[in-house]
This record gives sequence, structure tokens and C-alpha cells, in this order.
Amino acid sequence: MFFADWSKFEIWILFTAIFIFRYGFIAGVFFYLFYVLKNKKFSGYKIQKRLPYKNQIRQEVLYSILTFIIYGSTIFIFLYWINNNKTRVYTEISDYGILYFILSIVLMIVVHDTYFYWTHRLIHHPKIFKHVHKIHHKFDSPTPWAAFSFHPLEAIITIGIIPIIIFLIPYHQLALIIFITFLTIYNIFIHLGYVIPGFHYFKYQNTTIGHDFHHLHSHSNYGLYFNFWDRLMGTYLIDKKPLAEP
Ligand SMILES: [Zn+2]
Ligand SMILES: [Zn+2]
Repeated sequence: MFFADWSKFEIWILFTAIFIFRYGFIAGVFFYLFYVLKNKKFSGYKIQKRLPYKNQIRQEVLYSILTFIIYGSTIFIFLYWINNNKTRVYTEISDYGILYFILSIVLMIVVHDTYFYWTHRLIHHPKIFKHVHKIHHKFDSPTPWAAFSFHPLEAIITIGIIPIIIFLIPYHQLALIIFITFLTIYNIFIHLGYVIPGFHYFKYQNTTIGHDFHHLHSHSNYGLYFNFWDRLMGTYLIDKKPLAEP
């Protein structure tokens, strides 16, 4: 049993706080390096020239905190499923071996990218967009703080990946924590607004330019980690020349 001795309030506070601090720390590091320090090394690498609007960061942070409060509130359903052996959790890494442990994280990422691509396309449907996804697109030149800036309905859609994973893939709790931390880092990273000089992507990887284009044009680059689905479905658009050359 996980968290058997904890009160519901303690569990809610703990998980909400973990979500908020993890986001605050990772987005804070990226923001400090690229927007506060204004290191000369990065000048000229801003994808869109526009700097954040007045109040932009405050709104991005407040909506992200709301998202984490919602994420923290869903934890009880997951704990109920996990503690009643309804999910595919296992507790000893040796049960499946270290290779499977690593593979399960990769699998989570691939499944999540698929889930993200299709739900993202769905919430771009004109009839749904204004009710669900408009808040995330409020600013066409995002900052790292925008990564979880969602309408509550979008927050619920995004957390929908967790039941899919815990019912579908045999997972160790540590693999799930690594996956959630990785998704937080990657989601913040694609909202960076900068090209990182010297950073090499592999061909099928979603990039900061790709997601910046998504915020700017809305009808392309729906993927999160990869561009497999975008290439396959004809929604892949990357301008051949980066918007900002040094
Ligand atoms: Zn975005
Ligand atoms: Zn979008």
C-alpha cells in the first residue's frame, strides 16, 4: 500500500507541491539562463524577436499552478487503482529486469507522444479550441513558464495519459517518476523560445523551433517529443532556415 498512513489532505498537499516545485525549478533554471542572465552566447538565438508581453509570465505561472492543483487532486483516483492492484505496477525492479525498466520508460514516452499528438489535434478543432486550448495559445511567443498553462479542461485531458500508461504498461513506480520528470523537462524545454547553440536534435525529434511555430501558426507541429505523427499526417512544418540566425 502506498501512502496508507497519510491523510487525504497530506497526500494532496504533497503531490501538488511536488508538481509545482519541479516545474518551478526546471522552468526557473531555463528562464534564468536565457531570459535573465541574457548571456551574449544566446543573443541572436531567440526564435521570435518578441520578448514576453507585460503580465505574460504571471499568467503562464498562475494557469500552470492551477493545472498542478488539478493534477494533485487526481492523485486519489490513481492511488485507489494502484492500492487495489488494478494497475500493472510492480515493486521490485528485478521482477522484469533493468532492461525492461529502461524500455518501459521509452515505451511511456512513445505512447505519450501518440496520446499528445491526437488529443492536441482534437483540441485544435475550431469548435473545441476556444473552450479548451485557447489559454495555452494566448501568447504566440511562449516562455518556459507556459509549458503547463492550461484551461482546467485541458489539464484534465493531459493527465489522461497516466491511466493509459498504468493500465497498459507494466511499470515500476520509479520508472513512472522518471517519465513524469522527463515529460516536465521536455515540455518546458520546447517552450524555451530559443534555439540552443550547438545542441543537436535527431531527425524525428520535436524542437523548440517546431513548438514556437506551433504557437505562432497553430495548424502544424502538434507533437511533443517527436515529429513522427506530424510527418505521417502531413502537419509537419519547419521553416528550413531558423527564424533567428546568430
Ligand atoms: Zn505550447
Ligand atoms: Zn496547440
